[in-house]
Amino acid sequence: VFADAVFHDAVEQSAIAISITDDSARILYVNPAFCAITGYAASEVVGQRQSLLSYKSTPRSVYQALWGALKSGKPWTGRLLNRRRDGSPYVAELTVTPLKSSQGEDEPTRYIGMHWDATEEH
Ligand code: FAD
Repeated sequence: VFADAVFHDAVEQSAIAISITDDSARILYVNPAFCAITGYAASEVVGQRQSLLSYKSTPRSVYQALWGALKSGKPWTGRLLNRRRDGSPYVAELTVTPLKSSQGEDEPTRYIGMHWDATEEH
C-alpha cells in the first residue's frame, strides 16, 4: 500500500507543473515544477486566479472549450499561450481535470492542472 507521503513526494517532485484550484480557478497549491516553469514563488500565486498565467492572446473559444469540459465533469487537454512572471510567453500543453472528492458529495469541486512548456515543439 502506498503511504500518503509517497503521493505527496510524487506531486512535489514531478517535472510537470501541477496546480490545484478551487471551483473558481483560484490557486490552492502549486508544485516546485510550476514555480520553475512560470518563475513565480508559490507564495505569490496561492490565492490568485489561474488566469494570471494567461498571455491574453489565446482565443476565448479555447477557454470556453476548457470550461465546457470541466463543467460536464470531463478533463480537457490543449495548448494555451502563457506568460511567465518576467512577461515572456511560452506554449503550455495543459491537461485540466475536475477532482471528484473521495471525502463525499458535499465537498466543493476542485480542479487539477498539469502543464509543461511545449514552446520548442510549437
Ligand atoms: P475568464 O474570465 O476565465 O473567461 C473565459 C471564458 O471561460 C468565459 O467566457 C467562460 O465561458 C469560461 N469560464 C471562466 N471561468 C469559468 C467558471 N468558473 N465556470 C464556468 N465557465 C468559466 N488558463 C491559462 O491561460 N493558462 C493556464 O495555465 C491555465 N491553467 C488552468 C488550470 C486549472 C486547474 C484551471 C481550472 C484553469 C486554468 N486556466 C488556465 C484557465 C483560467 O482559469 C482562465 O479561464 C483563463 O486563463 C482565461 O482567463 P480570462 O480571465 O481571460 O477569462
